[in-house]
Amino acid sequence: MKQVKQRTFLVGALVLLLVLGVTAFLIRYFVSGRDWADFAANGHAFTDGRLSAGQVLDRSGAVLYDAASGTYAEDRTVRKATLHAVGDRDNNISTSAKAALRDRLIGYNILTGTTTGGHKLYLTIDAALNRIACQALDGRKGTAAVYNYETGEILCMVSTPAFDPADPPEIRDGDGAYEGVYLNRFLSSAFVPGSVFKVVTAAAALENIPDVLERRFTCTGSTDIGGETITCYHTHGEMDLYGALASSCNCVFAQLAVELGSDTLRQYAADAGLLEGSAVSGIPTAAGSFDGGTDGELGWAGVGQHNDLVNPCAVLTMMGAIASDDAVRPRLVAKETSMSGLSLLSGERTERFAVWKASTRQILREMLRNDVTAEYGQEMFGELAVCAKSGTAEVGGGQTPHAWFAGFLDDPAHPLAFVVLVENGGFGVSAAGSIAAQVLQAATAESGE
Ligand SMILES: [Zn+2]
Repeated sequence: MKQVKQRTFLVGALVLLLVLGVTAFLIRYFVSGRDWADFAANGHAFTDGRLSAGQVLDRSGAVLYDAASGTYAEDRTVRKATLHAVGDRDNNISTSAKAALRDRLIGYNILTGTTTGGHKLYLTIDAALNRIACQALDGRKGTAAVYNYETGEILCMVSTPAFDPADPPEIRDGDGAYEGVYLNRFLSSAFVPGSVFKVVTAAAALENIPDVLERRFTCTGSTDIGGETITCYHTHGEMDLYGALASSCNCVFAQLAVELGSDTLRQYAADAGLLEGSAVSGIPTAAGSFDGGTDGELGWAGVGQHNDLVNPCAVLTMMGAIASDDAVRPRLVAKETSMSGLSLLSGERTERFAVWKASTRQILREMLRNDVTAEYGQEMFGELAVCAKSGTAEVGGGQTPHAWFAGFLDDPAHPLAFVVLVENGGFGVSAAGSIAAQVLQAATAESGE
């Protein structure tokens, strides 16, 4: 009997060890399985350290990258125009689908592991529209993006400089032509906003200065604030707030900034989503900055200069939220399917984003429309009801300013917001506005939404 008891104990101990071992393995599997699948030595998803499972497609199903064959889109300009969305061969572009959404491409699943051959990841972008935006940027550094503020879908997201990922150039350190080429300027960079920031100052003035719409302002070409001389490109003469935004009068907006105070203005920039980084389909975006300082510095900060910095995606999101009382944050993944086309739940929620009071948004919509009809010229945009603010952002060091053009269409059939930035592009309307016009014409012609 003693022997039987001993054996029972031994078997019991062995069973307990087995259960403990299996439990420990399962815990590790659930916690680390995704990392194991992601490990470049996993033969199911990688060949020679390169991803070999999954496809990246555009919104209409055009294949932009096929991991099994390592091939990109057929058209060279499409490859270049979608470089930052899709990714380069060596994954230097960390915010690209290939790098940042690798898990989804591998199609890792806790039950089947990585044996399914990867997933098809449909991006929201339209390859043909990206191509047009890339051509419109015409070799200049910058970014152009368009998104549907009702659905959140980013239709166009181009960052330049770019290169053909199927035939990558040799890029040497310090090569000016490829400066910051691995950064998606739309998601990962922050730039001096210049006069685009006046939209924020205008919102703060509308909500905090009761008589601001009744006021008449006079611009003599320059004004002295706290020992700092704030200047305009022209003498703007007499105007109301609508006129001040349309003519982009620095003198008026610098004075409003000082009247509002640094804390208020900072709060409005924060509420607009311009200061903190955010995320697009889980891919992080860059933060911005606002620094009031002395009265003179605050004057410059109120017109988008001094130490102000904004991320282009944040500007786009702000414009969408001004355009609609029910705006959705931008996103980049349209859907995910198995390689055989079986639809999978992507689990991506539509996230709403609102700025300021409804009455403020309504007045801003009118003001931004007035910018186009009274100042920039409707003829640039054909029939499109473009609402926009331009920016010509001084970057110092004797460099040509950055050109901005950001806004939206006030058109229920085409609920599109846009942002264009041309680094050292010069005058906002002529450099960036014309790119916006070309992309918007194509977006409204193609989508037919
Ligand atoms: Zn002025």
